[in-house]
Amino acid sequence: MVLRKSLFVPGPTNIPDVIRKAMDVPMEDHRAPDLPEFILPLLNDVKKVFKTISGQVFIFPASGTGAWEAAVTNTLNPGDKVIAARFGQFSHLWIDMCERLGLNVQVVECEWGTGMPMETFREILSADKSGTIKAVLATQNETATGVKTDIGAIRNIMDDANHHAMLYVDGVSSIASVDFQMDAWGVDLAVSGSQKGFMLPAGLAIMAASQKAIKASENASMRRCYFDFGDMVKTNATGYFPYTPPMSLLRGLRASLDRIFDEGLENIFARHSFLAEGVRQAVSAWGLSLCAKEPQWYSDTVTAILVPEGKDANRVIKHAYHRYGLSLGAGLSVVAGKLFRIGHLGDLNELMLISAISGAEMAMRDVGIMEVEAGSGVAAAQEYYRKMGRALDHK
Ligand SMILES: *Cc1c(COP(=O)(O)O)cnc(C)c1O
Repeated sequence: MVLRKSLFVPGPTNIPDVIRKAMDVPMEDHRAPDLPEFILPLLNDVKKVFKTISGQVFIFPASGTGAWEAAVTNTLNPGDKVIAARFGQFSHLWIDMCERLGLNVQVVECEWGTGMPMETFREILSADKSGTIKAVLATQNETATGVKTDIGAIRNIMDDANHHAMLYVDGVSSIASVDFQMDAWGVDLAVSGSQKGFMLPAGLAIMAASQKAIKASENASMRRCYFDFGDMVKTNATGYFPYTPPMSLLRGLRASLDRIFDEGLENIFARHSFLAEGVRQAVSAWGLSLCAKEPQWYSDTVTAILVPEGKDANRVIKHAYHRYGLSLGAGLSVVAGKLFRIGHLGDLNELMLISAISGAEMAMRDVGIMEVEAGSGVAAAQEYYRKMGRALDHK
């Protein structure tokens, strides 16, 4: 017998039953004459989640990492200079990929737990009068540290500096959970994946490119084949794919979009911010600190919690899994052992979150973090959800 497990890593996230059932379909003909009736509205509806009208959506069979690669290889030339801040494992991995692909990355090193350093970017971009920087890479939500970045503010800095680099945004753990405005923020490449806010299994790289990025892709000379925008643009226009698409995931994506529009994007964003604040109230009642150093950086999709000095967060995570069937996110790389993460994105409500807080609390006490008082985090979250919050729509 296998008891139900509690999944509170920041992706993959819980899959609602309606979405899971929508994927349980007999295999279908991906060249069927009526397939475009399904594909064309699907692609168009993804645009609504990215809040783009002029952009072009791409869905590749890959994970978010594949979308990073597609964004970069379709639009840049070998040796091009790009700029990025390293402030967590995901921003690090994107930088690492760019270096391995032969780009010249100007890395702005930041303390983990802080966000993109806006003033440093302002200085660098303002000083780059000849426009040697071709791309600005930004991670909207650094999942490793629970730190968010204001993408609109980066756009303003680029505009103030009159800089014409393209803006690339990793929104893997934010798009469809917190607000993302591709057109309004002048984002050129927006990257996401299926297993986070879209509440699907991993397997789809979901991304969008601006017309400027599409234009750049026509001459960009980095090597690519499978991820080529040109092949995709041509076949997608007819409602098909250049190769066998993962049909069951696309059926799942249809159900996911229906559910997202049924709840409403703005309601989803409000729910995430409401649930996140309850978790932060719990952490504060525990007497522990967040990895995110200032409220301006607090993420609404994942909270990274520092355990007391001298304690091992990995013990908490392992114990929570074995004893309570609770999966928490681990500290990665620089912060390994120092923190654990509670993912709170996707299909979640107050009571689910309280169960994660309770499990984390029990696990911490079990492994000897006794300064965390029994029930303290649960009580704080309960009172927040009870008194301070908006009622979620449980219809
Ligand atoms: C999960 C994640 C990724 C990459 O994801 P894969 O889907 O595992 O390839 C990239 N960036 C961020 C911010 C993420 O949270």
